[in-house]
Amino acid sequence: MAEVTLVEIEKTFRGKTTVISNLDLEIEDGSFTVLVGPSGCGKSTLLRMIAGLETVTRGAISIGGHDVTTAEPSDRDIAMVFQSYALYPHMTVARNIDFGMRLAKIPAQERQAKVDEAAKLLNLEDLLERKPAELSGGQRQRVAIGRAIVRNPGVFLFDEPLSNLDAALRNRMRVELAELHQRLDTTMVYVTHDQIEAMTLADRIVVLNAGKVEQVGAPMELYQRPETLFVAGFIGSPK
Ligand code: ADP
Ligand code: MG
Repeated sequence: MAEVTLVEIEKTFRGKTTVISNLDLEIEDGSFTVLVGPSGCGKSTLLRMIAGLETVTRGAISIGGHDVTTAEPSDRDIAMVFQSYALYPHMTVARNIDFGMRLAKIPAQERQAKVDEAAKLLNLEDLLERKPAELSGGQRQRVAIGRAIVRNPGVFLFDEPLSNLDAALRNRMRVELAELHQRLDTTMVYVTHDQIEAMTLADRIVVLNAGKVEQVGAPMELYQRPETLFVAGFIGSPK
């Protein structure tokens, strides 16, 4: 069953620049779906529309069987992790992870249990009282992921979460994300411009080009049977 469904989505900025047109996409429940494509092809815009951070110009979006086309971000069963981490610098790690739950007025005891659980899952137990400035890039990204986990969303949305990390750490975090997907048994939608990242993380890849879906399939399927020259060139020849 599809967890996220996009029907005839169009996005036009300021009434003139159309960056996505007539896009249909189904994201399977429980999948690790990677949206991949060159810089500027509309990946972030698409993800932001799923999150509700950007309106759609035309079309419909449903998440978990609910039409959320015009719903606020907080009324969608999602949590988003950004490339820039977007942590609060003056708050400790624990506070950063806790923040969204405080806003949602979840009882303190329950919040504490969730922070502890996320910290354990992400290896942050010894860092809970530190501030973001006292963390490495990888640790900061773990905190950002922790903040998403405690919301217990049906769908995780990641926008190039590893691109600020060095190559070795990126490899390690990829393995961690794959393990996290297994353990949480949830749907993950992951945006990247990096073909290798897409090939290693995804069980399903969506190749985007200039605001259109070129092809959808399992990594090896795209690699062995590309349907367009663009897919052949993009998946076949890593930069
Ligand atoms: P990607 O994430 O694939 O690099 P984006 O979704 O960020 O691409 O951008 C797709 C296109 O939409 C780009 O041409 C970008 O300049 C344009 N765009 C993105 N956001 C806005 C905006 N707020 N106003 C106008 N144009 C935008
Ligand atoms: Mg982007």
